[in-house]
Amino acid sequence: MTETTEVVVIGGGYAGVMAANRLTLRGDVRVTLVNPRASFVHRIRLHQLVGGTDGAVVEYREVLGEGVRLVVDTVARIDAAGRAVELESGGTVGYDYLVYAVGSGSADPSVPGAARYAYPIGTFEEAQRLRPVLEAVPATAAVTVVGAGPTGIETAAELAEQGRRVTLVCGGVLGPYLHPRGRR
Ligand SMILES: Cc1cc2nc3c(=O)[nH]c(=O)nc-3n(C[C@H](O)[C@H](O)[C@H](O)COP(=O)(O)OP(=O)(O)OC[C@H]3O[C@@H](n4cnc5c(N)ncnc54)[C@H](O)[C@@H]3O)c2cc1C
Repeated sequence: MTETTEVVVIGGGYAGVMAANRLTLRGDVRVTLVNPRASFVHRIRLHQLVGGTDGAVVEYREVLGEGVRLVVDTVARIDAAGRAVELESGGTVGYDYLVYAVGSGSADPSVPGAARYAYPIGTFEEAQRLRPVLEAVPATAAVTVVGAGPTGIETAAELAEQGRRVTLVCGGVLGPYLHPRGRR
């Protein structure tokens, strides 16, 4: 008889879902995915949530393989010696292997005033906070997007498409990661 290997995946974003789904292709692996929210956040659509053209949320049943057990909770602690994760709700889930896919965060804003007056959009909650603010101001209100990496460029484009007056503030080069033709 083959033994079942227990895998816990922390984080149900793109990386966690892909890893969990891929692991279910093996019959001898049981996968548990732990994520704080009951729905999948389409992080790459958060600028559209801000602009009101997409909700940026998809039901897990649409993206998660049938064999994956979803636990809606936050991992508060990893007990590596005991091979278990401790959940914020108080329970634990044991594992043989652990996948750590909790995503990335934004750097703390270093510009004076940014923490108080600017709206970050790196997480679902942050994007949700900005949406009603934009809805409440006149369509002619000037919007300044600071940072011309992909998120800044996409956000500026999204809002400009809606007819808003957008200024995009970048460093020395707009989208330094882009090919010159793409940048043009
Ligand atoms: C507005 C915007 C536009 C973007 N556009 C693009 C694009 O066009 N193309 C592109 O390639 N990338 C884009 N990105 C970047 C992309 O979204 C990230 O690279 C991607 O989301 C990373 O995937 P991930 O699975 O590592 O993390 P995430 O998608 O952030 O998922 C991490 C998950 O882990 C969960 N989690 C965190 N802590 C815990 C915990 N303690 N316990 C349990 N769960 C936890 C989170 O709630 C979340 O569900 C964009 C980002 C933003 C903000």
